[in-house]
Amino acid sequence: MKVIRSIKQMQRVAREIAAAGKTIGLVPTMGYLHEGHLSLIRRAKKQADVVITTIFVNPAQFGPNEDLANYPRDEKGDLRKIESAGGDIVFIPKADQVYPEDFQTYVTVEELTKTLEGKKRPTHFKGVTTIVAKLFNITRPNVAVFGMKDFQQAIVLRQMTKDLGYPIRFIIAPTVRERDGLAMSSRNRYFTAEQRVEARALYYALRTAREMVKAKVVEAGKIESEMTAAIKATCPTAKIDYIAFTDADTLEAVQKVRRGTICSLAVRVHKVRLIDNLRL
Ligand code: AMP
Repeated sequence: MKVIRSIKQMQRVAREIAAAGKTIGLVPTMGYLHEGHLSLIRRAKKQADVVITTIFVNPAQFGPNEDLANYPRDEKGDLRKIESAGGDIVFIPKADQVYPEDFQTYVTVEELTKTLEGKKRPTHFKGVTTIVAKLFNITRPNVAVFGMKDFQQAIVLRQMTKDLGYPIRFIIAPTVRERDGLAMSSRNRYFTAEQRVEARALYYALRTAREMVKAKVVEAGKIESEMTAAIKATCPTAKIDYIAFTDADTLEAVQKVRRGTICSLAVRVHKVRLIDNLRL
């Protein structure tokens, strides 16, 4: 497995791979990898000859009071995991190369970023779309794989891919969960053992929603109240940022759940902000 840290070298290697008639699969990450990330690498490996995993804690997607400085890092562990998942190349660019001092060009997706996470984190998606556009330009992938865990991010990036005309097959892969249902996330490491148990609240709430829909309750308001109760019962100090029911493609809010509606939520559990979602 090759580790590349310079943008120029990554561009050169990507050109060589294409010249050899091989396809490239890209999996962008912020590192501190878990089974969720590895599932994306395995998926990419099925779709392309060479898989490039990127590790970059992207300052542009963190707000001023978010956890950029404390974001967990473990490069050695990450490299070992990527290799075991079948990764071929790991691209770890340096922040001052990605964003030199005179940097001033950003990519923004207008409408899809106005709701949900975009409302709570106003500069977040501009950072995400800008870094992913840059990674697309540097690595020239044929296929890119993103996780459903960050549902709105995936939809926003899919729109960007289409709008900017990147010739990239865009894959959204399912969320990988811990045994108790908690969606795997690099941020789960912030919890003590007791807090970790309370973090189940999000999945319990989503399961409540799924059960209600199965029992033919479709009013979003009714489901939301039960979800709120499930969260409070599991984690009494939880702060709910939002619980939303939206169309899977347009992200428009729906009053009545129908086939394919996505329920997503953001909840602060002991100061750690978690997000999750489920297709109902
Ligand atoms: P991150 O390192 O958190 O920026 O995530 C990198 C990629 O991994 C994104 O496409 C995420 O949606 C995806 N991802 C994160 N957690 C999971 C998970 N539990 N299951 C599947 N994909 C995930």
